[in-house]
Amino acid sequence: SLRVAMRDHPQGMVSEGDFLVEQTPRPAPGPGQALVRVRHLSLDPYMRPMMNPVRSYVEPLKPGQTMPGATVGEVVESNEEALPVGAHVACMLGWQEYGLVTKDAARIVDLDPGDISLALHVLGMTGATAHYGLLHLGDPKPGETVVVTAASGAVGSVVGQLAKIKGCRVLGIAGGPEKCRYVTEELGFDECLDHRADDFEQRLAELTPDWVDILFENVGGPVLDALLPRMNDHGRVVLCGNISDYNRDEPYGLKGISHLLLHRVNVYSFVIADHRDYWPGAIGELAGWVKEGRIRFREDVAKGGLKGAPSAFISMLTGRNFGKQLVEVAPA
Ligand code: NDP
Repeated sequence: SLRVAMRDHPQGMVSEGDFLVEQTPRPAPGPGQALVRVRHLSLDPYMRPMMNPVRSYVEPLKPGQTMPGATVGEVVESNEEALPVGAHVACMLGWQEYGLVTKDAARIVDLDPGDISLALHVLGMTGATAHYGLLHLGDPKPGETVVVTAASGAVGSVVGQLAKIKGCRVLGIAGGPEKCRYVTEELGFDECLDHRADDFEQRLAELTPDWVDILFENVGGPVLDALLPRMNDHGRVVLCGNISDYNRDEPYGLKGISHLLLHRVNVYSFVIADHRDYWPGAIGELAGWVKEGRIRFREDVAKGGLKGAPSAFISMLTGRNFGKQLVEVAPA
């Protein structure tokens, strides 16, 4: 069974040399355990800060440790009645081809709304993140202006579509014209701006004449610098991610703090792992909207097995992904 480990803590931008790909013996299930053959691995931005030896909300990874991560797959051997052979499960096996689970560590996946991989994004962690962050914390009202950064991505795409369902005017921010076209034409956002375009700040001002009520923030850095002066009085910032900092040794910093104060803006930060009780309800509601075609999504699947995971991870962290970044660890 192949696995990918962190070779050592990366400095700055993570590179393929920071990973170790190696064969390990395939484990055998003990009492109450099932062996899962991983079909898809989810690659998520949070994995990068976990590679730094600093204080965080989780233990940092140690050199030689298997990279963590959410996975979906099939039970191929079992000593657990609740996880029969052939069952499709979602679990946290990390970057490896096979792994052991107990019934408490695996969720049986309902294949009704779509493919098993949906449990890794729109009907899994990133969907729950969008739902909790926007609907529970942001509490959007019809007619409000919502801005979403990393708008074509796994979290951002769902946030914007939820805001449209709630009757808001939605402006996405994404990297490049192709992503922007997808965000407006396929996902139904009202507008989308390319954060790399020369006229980004000018267009942002033109498109937010009545200011921004909710900013769903995924990226930080210069994009956040441009957005904070556009906040409305009593606006809300849902601080979900700060991806532009994840490969920096020194944080970029928060420049617009005076705008937060002058306009009495509330900032809500959260980590979705703290809210496990919220997931089933959110995922159930999202599944209904996916079935009705009201929430659409896009996957970016790296084929060719687990050895391609490091390069796909680096792609995702530099915006070369287009949609939810997955690795096809084993074909169906
Ligand atoms: P995405 O699918 O959105 O992929 C990451 C995207 O980030 C890239 O495609 C790119 O989009 C953008 N990006 C990367 N680097 C930069 C940069 N320097 N400046 C601006 N944009 C950049 O990933 P996810 O949807 O999985 O995650 C989105 C955010 O949500 C992350 O910050 C993540 O950490 C956070 N998150 C937080 C959770 C929580 O519990 N708080 C849970 C899950 C995710 P583009 O090409 O459009 O610029």
